[in-house]
Amino acid sequence: MSCPRIEVDLNKIRRNTQTVVRRLGARGIDVTGVTKGVRGHPAIAQALLDGGVAGLADARISNVQRLRQAGITSPVTLIRTPMMSQADQVVQFCEASYNTEIAVIAALSSAAIRRGRVHGIILMVEMGDRREGILPENLAEVALQVMTMRGVALKGIGANFACLSGLAPTTSQMANFGALANEIEGACGPFLKIVSGGGSANLPWAFGEQSTGRINNLRLGEAILLGVEPVSGEQIDGMHTDAFTLVAEVIEASAKPAPFPIALVDPTLARLRIAPVSGVSKRHILAIGQQDTDILGLSMPAGSTFIGATSDHLVIGTNRTILKVGSEVKFQMNYNALMHAMAAPDIKVKLLDDRPPRHPRRTQDKPQHLALV
Ligand SMILES: *Cc1c(COP(=O)(O)O)cnc(C)c1O
Repeated sequence: MSCPRIEVDLNKIRRNTQTVVRRLGARGIDVTGVTKGVRGHPAIAQALLDGGVAGLADARISNVQRLRQAGITSPVTLIRTPMMSQADQVVQFCEASYNTEIAVIAALSSAAIRRGRVHGIILMVEMGDRREGILPENLAEVALQVMTMRGVALKGIGANFACLSGLAPTTSQMANFGALANEIEGACGPFLKIVSGGGSANLPWAFGEQSTGRINNLRLGEAILLGVEPVSGEQIDGMHTDAFTLVAEVIEASAKPAPFPIALVDPTLARLRIAPVSGVSKRHILAIGQQDTDILGLSMPAGSTFIGATSDHLVIGTNRTILKVGSEVKFQMNYNALMHAMAAPDIKVKLLDDRPPRHPRRTQDKPQHLALV
Protein backbone atom coordinates (compact mmCIF):
# COMPACT_ATOMS: atom_id res chain seq x y z
CA MET A 1 0.00 0.00 0.00
CA SER A 2 1.23 3.45 -0.90
CA CYS A 3 3.33 5.20 1.76
CA PRO A 4 3.34 7.78 3.18
CA ARG A 5 -0.42 8.19 3.17
CA ILE A 6 -3.19 9.82 5.15
CA GLU A 7 -6.12 7.59 5.95
CA VAL A 8 -9.30 9.61 6.24
CA ASP A 9 -12.32 8.16 8.00
CA LEU A 10 -15.14 10.04 6.31
CA ASN A 11 -17.72 8.54 8.61
CA LYS A 12 -16.02 10.07 11.66
CA ILE A 13 -15.92 13.44 9.91
CA ARG A 14 -19.62 13.16 9.09
CA ARG A 15 -20.42 12.25 12.68
CA ASN A 16 -18.29 15.08 14.09
CA THR A 17 -20.11 17.45 11.76
CA GLN A 18 -23.52 16.16 12.84
CA THR A 19 -22.56 16.54 16.50
CA VAL A 20 -21.55 20.22 16.26
CA VAL A 21 -24.33 21.08 13.82
CA ARG A 22 -26.90 19.65 16.24
CA ARG A 23 -25.43 21.29 19.34
CA LEU A 24 -25.00 24.68 17.73
CA GLY A 25 -28.36 24.45 15.98
CA ALA A 26 -29.97 24.26 19.41
CA ARG A 27 -28.35 27.64 20.13
CA GLY A 28 -29.49 29.25 16.88
CA ILE A 29 -26.08 28.99 15.22
CA ASP A 30 -25.44 27.36 11.86
CA VAL A 31 -22.11 25.96 10.76
CA THR A 32 -19.96 26.79 7.76
CA GLY A 33 -17.51 23.95 7.11
CA VAL A 34 -13.94 25.18 6.55
CA THR A 35 -11.93 23.07 4.10
CA LYS A 36 -8.56 24.87 4.11
CA GLY A 37 -7.07 22.28 6.50
CA VAL A 38 -7.61 19.59 3.87
CA ARG A 39 -6.72 21.78 0.87
CA GLY A 40 -10.32 21.72 -0.35
CA HIS A 41 -10.47 17.95 -0.66
CA PRO A 42 -13.84 17.33 -2.35
CA ALA A 43 -14.77 14.04 -0.63
CA ILE A 44 -14.04 15.55 2.79
CA ALA A 45 -16.04 18.63 1.85
CA GLN A 46 -18.89 16.33 0.85
CA ALA A 47 -18.70 14.62 4.26
CA LEU A 48 -19.12 18.06 5.89
CA LEU A 49 -22.13 18.74 3.66
CA ASP A 50 -23.61 15.31 4.43
CA GLY A 51 -23.12 16.05 8.12
CA GLY A 52 -25.30 19.14 7.79
CA VAL A 53 -23.12 22.24 7.35
CA ALA A 54 -24.97 25.20 5.85
CA GLY A 55 -22.16 25.89 3.38
CA LEU A 56 -18.41 25.63 2.84
CA ALA A 57 -15.58 28.11 3.20
CA ASP A 58 -11.91 28.14 2.28
CA ALA A 59 -9.08 30.65 2.46
CA ARG A 60 -7.67 30.00 -1.03
CA ILE A 61 -9.30 30.29 -4.41
CA SER A 62 -7.22 27.31 -5.67
CA ASN A 63 -8.94 25.11 -3.07
CA VAL A 64 -12.36 26.48 -4.03
CA GLN A 65 -11.60 25.68 -7.68
CA ARG A 66 -10.79 22.13 -6.65
CA LEU A 67 -14.20 21.85 -4.96
CA ARG A 68 -15.97 23.25 -8.01
CA GLN A 69 -14.07 21.00 -10.44
CA ALA A 70 -15.25 18.01 -8.42
CA GLY A 71 -18.84 19.15 -8.94
CA ILE A 72 -19.58 20.64 -5.51
CA THR A 73 -22.33 23.20 -6.01
CA SER A 74 -23.07 24.25 -2.41
CA PRO A 75 -22.41 27.88 -1.46
CA VAL A 76 -18.69 28.54 -0.88
CA THR A 77 -17.39 31.62 0.91
CA LEU A 78 -13.81 32.86 0.70
CA ILE A 79 -12.72 33.50 4.30
CA ARG A 80 -9.46 35.26 3.50
CA THR A 81 -9.94 38.73 2.15
CA PRO A 82 -9.53 38.37 -1.63
CA MET A 83 -6.42 39.36 -3.53
CA MET A 84 -7.36 42.15 -5.87
CA SER A 85 -5.65 40.21 -8.67
CA GLN A 86 -8.10 37.33 -8.10
CA ALA A 87 -11.32 39.37 -7.93
CA ASP A 88 -12.67 37.81 -11.09
CA GLN A 89 -12.14 34.22 -9.91
CA VAL A 90 -13.59 35.04 -6.50
CA VAL A 91 -16.80 36.20 -8.16
CA GLN A 92 -16.75 33.20 -10.49
CA PHE A 93 -16.27 30.49 -7.86
CA CYS A 94 -17.60 31.91 -4.58
CA GLU A 95 -21.04 33.14 -3.57
CA ALA A 96 -19.55 35.48 -1.02
CA SER A 97 -16.29 36.58 0.54
CA TYR A 98 -15.02 38.12 3.78
CA ASN A 99 -13.63 41.58 3.15
CA THR A 100 -11.74 44.35 4.91
CA GLU A 101 -10.66 46.67 2.07
CA ILE A 102 -12.98 48.91 0.11
CA ALA A 103 -10.65 48.82 -2.92
CA VAL A 104 -10.99 45.04 -3.07
CA ILE A 105 -14.78 45.26 -2.71
CA ALA A 106 -14.79 47.74 -5.61
CA ALA A 107 -12.82 45.24 -7.72
CA LEU A 108 -15.31 42.49 -6.78
CA SER A 109 -18.15 44.83 -7.72
CA SER A 110 -16.68 45.46 -11.20
CA ALA A 111 -16.02 41.75 -11.73
CA ALA A 112 -19.56 40.87 -10.65
CA ILE A 113 -21.08 43.48 -12.97
CA ARG A 114 -19.03 42.06 -15.87
CA ARG A 115 -20.30 38.58 -15.08
CA GLY A 116 -23.85 39.70 -14.48
CA ARG A 117 -23.77 38.43 -10.90
CA VAL A 118 -24.25 39.70 -7.39
CA HIS A 119 -21.42 38.76 -5.03
CA GLY A 120 -22.07 38.60 -1.28
CA ILE A 121 -19.91 40.73 1.01
CA ILE A 122 -19.31 39.91 4.64
CA LEU A 123 -17.33 42.58 6.44
CA MET A 124 -14.69 41.23 8.77
CA VAL A 125 -14.45 43.23 11.98
CA GLU A 126 -11.34 43.53 14.15
CA MET A 127 -12.48 42.49 17.63
CA GLY A 128 -9.08 42.05 19.27
CA ASP A 129 -7.23 39.27 17.47
CA ARG A 130 -5.20 41.90 15.59
CA ARG A 131 -5.13 39.90 12.38
CA GLU A 132 -7.61 41.02 9.75
CA GLY A 133 -10.60 43.27 10.19
CA ILE A 134 -12.17 46.70 9.98
CA LEU A 135 -12.09 48.64 13.25
CA PRO A 136 -15.59 48.72 14.81
CA GLU A 137 -15.68 52.52 14.67
CA ASN A 138 -15.17 52.46 10.88
CA LEU A 139 -17.60 49.64 10.17
CA ALA A 140 -20.76 51.67 9.52
CA GLU A 141 -18.97 53.90 7.04
CA VAL A 142 -17.59 50.94 5.07
CA ALA A 143 -21.00 49.22 5.16
CA LEU A 144 -22.62 52.36 3.74
CA GLN A 145 -20.08 52.46 0.91
CA VAL A 146 -20.76 48.80 0.07
CA MET A 147 -24.48 49.59 -0.09
CA THR A 148 -23.88 52.10 -2.86
CA MET A 149 -21.98 49.64 -5.08
CA ARG A 150 -23.62 47.56 -7.75
CA GLY A 151 -22.76 43.87 -8.21
CA VAL A 152 -22.19 43.33 -4.50
CA ALA A 153 -24.64 42.85 -1.65
CA LEU A 154 -23.88 43.32 2.05
CA LYS A 155 -24.70 39.95 3.61
CA GLY A 156 -23.29 40.24 7.05
CA ILE A 157 -20.39 40.78 9.40
CA GLY A 158 -17.79 38.43 10.80
CA ALA A 159 -15.21 38.31 13.56
CA ASN A 160 -12.13 36.22 14.08
CA PHE A 161 -10.45 35.16 17.30
CA ALA A 162 -7.46 33.15 18.48
CA CYS A 163 -5.73 33.14 15.10
CA LEU A 164 -2.85 35.54 15.51
CA SER A 165 -3.21 36.23 19.21
CA GLY A 166 -4.04 32.69 20.32
CA LEU A 167 -6.56 34.23 22.73
CA ALA A 168 -10.04 32.78 23.03
CA PRO A 169 -12.89 35.29 22.77
CA THR A 170 -14.41 36.58 25.98
CA THR A 171 -18.13 36.82 26.67
CA SER A 172 -17.99 40.60 26.56
CA GLN A 173 -16.12 40.67 23.23
CA MET A 174 -18.83 38.42 21.78
CA ALA A 175 -21.60 40.59 23.24
CA ASN A 176 -19.94 43.70 21.73
CA PHE A 177 -19.71 41.99 18.37
CA GLY A 178 -23.40 41.00 18.50
CA ALA A 179 -24.31 44.58 19.41
CA LEU A 180 -22.40 45.82 16.35
CA ALA A 181 -24.80 43.90 14.11
CA ASN A 182 -27.74 45.89 15.52
CA GLU A 183 -25.79 49.11 15.25
CA ILE A 184 -24.95 48.58 11.58
CA GLU A 185 -28.54 47.70 10.80
CA GLY A 186 -29.63 50.86 12.57
CA ALA A 187 -27.14 52.99 10.66
CA CYS A 188 -27.38 51.41 7.21
CA GLY A 189 -30.81 49.86 6.99
CA PRO A 190 -30.34 46.35 5.59
CA PHE A 191 -30.91 43.24 7.64
CA LEU A 192 -27.60 41.45 8.22
CA LYS A 193 -28.29 37.84 7.34
CA ILE A 194 -24.97 36.49 8.58
CA VAL A 195 -23.41 37.38 11.91
CA SER A 196 -20.46 35.03 11.99
CA GLY A 197 -18.78 34.86 15.37
CA GLY A 198 -15.53 33.09 14.52
CA GLY A 199 -13.99 29.63 14.25
CA SER A 200 -13.39 26.58 16.41
CA ALA A 201 -11.95 28.71 19.22
CA ASN A 202 -15.48 30.07 19.75
CA LEU A 203 -16.99 26.72 20.68
CA PRO A 204 -16.46 27.02 24.46
CA TRP A 205 -18.26 30.38 24.23
CA ALA A 206 -21.02 28.96 22.02
CA PHE A 207 -21.64 26.01 24.36
CA GLY A 208 -21.54 28.31 27.40
CA GLU A 209 -24.35 29.54 29.60
CA GLN A 210 -24.68 33.06 28.22
CA SER A 211 -26.97 34.10 25.39
CA THR A 212 -25.47 33.82 21.91
CA GLY A 213 -27.34 36.99 20.94
CA ARG A 214 -27.26 37.98 17.29
CA ILE A 215 -24.51 35.53 16.39
CA ASN A 216 -25.96 32.95 14.02
CA ASN A 217 -22.93 31.36 12.34
CA LEU A 218 -19.54 29.84 13.13
CA ARG A 219 -16.91 28.81 10.60
CA LEU A 220 -15.46 25.50 11.74
CA GLY A 221 -12.47 23.57 10.48
CA GLU A 222 -10.25 22.16 13.22
CA ALA A 223 -13.06 21.24 15.62
CA ILE A 224 -14.82 19.10 13.04
CA LEU A 225 -11.78 17.57 11.39
CA LEU A 226 -9.77 16.83 14.53
CA GLY A 227 -12.41 16.90 17.27
CA VAL A 228 -10.38 19.30 19.40
CA GLU A 229 -10.80 22.82 20.70
CA PRO A 230 -7.80 24.78 19.34
CA VAL A 231 -6.97 27.03 22.28
CA SER A 232 -6.80 24.28 24.91
CA GLY A 233 -6.04 21.45 22.46
CA GLU A 234 -8.57 19.35 24.34
CA GLN A 235 -10.97 16.86 22.86
CA ILE A 236 -14.51 18.16 22.41
CA ASP A 237 -17.05 15.96 24.17
CA GLY A 238 -18.43 13.28 21.93
CA MET A 239 -16.14 14.08 18.99
CA HIS A 240 -13.73 11.75 17.19
CA THR A 241 -10.10 12.88 17.32
CA ASP A 242 -8.82 10.17 15.00
CA ALA A 243 -10.53 10.81 11.68
CA PHE A 244 -7.07 11.32 10.12
CA THR A 245 -4.11 8.96 10.44
CA LEU A 246 -0.71 9.50 8.89
CA VAL A 247 1.05 6.29 7.91
CA ALA A 248 4.79 6.16 7.21
CA GLU A 249 7.11 3.29 6.34
CA VAL A 250 10.19 2.07 8.15
CA ILE A 251 13.25 2.17 5.87
CA GLU A 252 15.96 1.36 8.42
CA ALA A 253 15.79 -0.49 11.70
CA SER A 254 19.09 -0.60 13.48
CA ALA A 255 20.78 -0.56 16.78
CA LYS A 256 22.85 2.62 16.59
CA PRO A 257 25.10 3.35 19.51
CA ALA A 258 23.02 5.51 21.80
CA PRO A 259 23.41 8.11 23.04
CA PHE A 260 25.46 9.80 20.34
CA PRO A 261 29.04 10.74 21.06
CA ILE A 262 28.40 14.16 22.50
CA ALA A 263 30.94 15.84 20.18
CA LEU A 264 28.80 14.93 17.19
CA VAL A 265 25.84 16.87 18.41
CA ASP A 266 25.84 20.44 17.24
CA PRO A 267 23.70 22.32 19.73
CA THR A 268 22.63 24.77 17.02
CA LEU A 269 20.92 21.98 15.14
CA ALA A 270 17.42 22.49 16.44
CA ARG A 271 16.21 19.63 14.31
CA LEU A 272 18.18 17.14 16.31
CA ARG A 273 16.64 16.34 19.63
CA ILE A 274 17.95 13.68 21.93
CA ALA A 275 15.12 11.62 23.29
CA PRO A 276 14.88 12.36 26.98
CA VAL A 277 13.45 8.96 27.76
CA SER A 278 16.02 6.58 29.06
CA GLY A 279 15.96 3.05 27.85
CA VAL A 280 15.25 3.94 24.25
CA SER A 281 17.43 1.54 22.41
CA LYS A 282 15.92 0.68 19.04
CA ARG A 283 16.17 3.34 16.40
CA HIS A 284 14.02 3.40 13.30
CA ILE A 285 14.13 5.62 10.28
CA LEU A 286 10.87 6.38 8.54
CA ALA A 287 10.51 7.73 5.02
CA ILE A 288 8.82 10.99 5.89
CA GLY A 289 10.27 14.36 6.84
CA GLN A 290 9.92 18.08 7.30
CA GLN A 291 9.13 18.47 3.61
CA ASP A 292 5.95 16.41 4.04
CA THR A 293 4.46 17.71 7.27
CA ASP A 294 5.08 19.57 10.51
CA ILE A 295 6.91 16.73 12.22
CA LEU A 296 6.57 18.36 15.64
CA GLY A 297 2.80 18.26 15.16
CA LEU A 298 2.74 14.46 15.10
CA SER A 299 1.88 12.43 18.14
CA MET A 300 4.17 9.49 18.51
CA PRO A 301 2.50 6.11 18.77
CA ALA A 302 2.53 4.45 22.19
CA GLY A 303 5.92 3.00 23.06
CA SER A 304 7.88 5.23 20.71
CA THR A 305 9.76 8.48 21.06
CA PHE A 306 10.64 11.24 18.66
CA ILE A 307 14.41 11.46 18.21
CA GLY A 308 14.81 13.82 15.27
CA ALA A 309 13.78 14.73 11.77
CA THR A 310 15.33 16.18 8.64
CA SER A 311 13.81 17.07 5.30
CA ASP A 312 13.15 13.46 4.31
CA HIS A 313 13.81 11.31 7.36
CA LEU A 314 12.09 10.84 10.68
CA VAL A 315 14.01 9.02 13.39
CA ILE A 316 12.05 7.44 16.20
CA GLY A 317 13.06 5.24 19.07
CA THR A 318 11.13 2.35 20.50
CA ASN A 319 11.79 0.88 23.89
CA ARG A 320 10.65 -2.67 23.30
CA THR A 321 9.74 -3.82 19.84
CA ILE A 322 11.95 -3.70 16.80
CA LEU A 323 9.91 -2.77 13.75
CA LYS A 324 10.77 -4.59 10.55
CA VAL A 325 11.96 -2.70 7.52
CA GLY A 326 8.90 -2.21 5.33
CA SER A 327 6.48 -2.10 8.24
CA GLU A 328 4.19 0.87 8.83
CA VAL A 329 3.92 3.33 11.71
CA LYS A 330 0.78 5.37 12.37
CA PHE A 331 0.62 8.90 13.73
CA GLN A 332 -2.10 11.34 14.72
CA MET A 333 -1.59 14.89 13.49
CA ASN A 334 -2.38 18.32 14.88
CA TYR A 335 -4.02 20.89 12.58
CA ASN A 336 -0.74 22.30 11.32
CA ALA A 337 0.67 18.87 10.54
CA LEU A 338 -2.60 17.90 8.84
CA MET A 339 -2.64 21.06 6.73
CA HIS A 340 0.93 20.47 5.50
CA ALA A 341 0.47 16.75 4.96
CA MET A 342 -2.73 17.26 2.95
CA ALA A 343 -0.81 19.58 0.65
CA ALA A 344 2.28 17.38 0.32
CA PRO A 345 2.67 15.96 -3.17
CA ASP A 346 4.22 12.72 -1.94
CA ILE A 347 1.48 11.85 0.52
CA LYS A 348 -1.50 9.95 -0.85
CA VAL A 349 -4.95 10.45 0.60
CA LYS A 350 -6.84 7.24 1.17
CA LEU A 351 -10.51 7.56 1.91
CA LEU A 352 -12.10 5.16 4.29
CA ASP A 353 -15.82 5.34 3.98
CA ASP A 354 -17.67 3.08 6.32
CA ARG A 355 -21.05 4.64 5.73
CA PRO A 356 -23.60 1.84 6.18
CA PRO A 357 -24.42 0.55 2.70
CA ARG A 358 -28.01 0.79 1.49
CA HIS A 359 -27.91 -2.89 0.56
CA PRO A 360 -26.11 -5.31 2.85
CA ARG A 361 -22.62 -5.84 1.53
CA ARG A 362 -21.65 -9.36 0.61
CA THR A 363 -19.02 -10.73 2.92
CA GLN A 364 -15.70 -10.26 1.23
CA ASP A 365 -12.14 -10.36 2.25
CA LYS A 366 -11.08 -7.25 0.43
CA PRO A 367 -12.19 -4.00 2.00
CA GLN A 368 -14.36 -2.47 -0.70
CA HIS A 369 -14.69 0.87 0.99
CA LEU A 370 -11.13 1.99 0.41
CA ALA A 371 -10.52 4.41 -2.38
CA LEU A 372 -7.24 5.95 -3.40
CA VAL A 373 -7.42 9.45 -4.80
C1 LIG B 1 -9.15 29.18 9.34
C2 LIG B 1 -10.27 30.11 9.56
C3 LIG B 1 -11.43 29.67 10.18
C4 LIG B 1 -11.60 28.26 10.71
O1 LIG B 1 -10.77 28.09 11.81
P1 LIG B 1 -10.75 26.73 12.66
O2 LIG B 1 -9.96 27.08 13.85
O3 LIG B 1 -10.13 25.72 11.79
O4 LIG B 1 -12.17 26.40 12.98
C5 LIG B 1 -12.47 30.57 10.31
N1 LIG B 1 -12.37 31.82 9.87
C6 LIG B 1 -11.25 32.29 9.27
C7 LIG B 1 -11.20 33.71 8.81
C8 LIG B 1 -10.17 31.46 9.10
O5 LIG B 1 -9.06 31.92 8.51
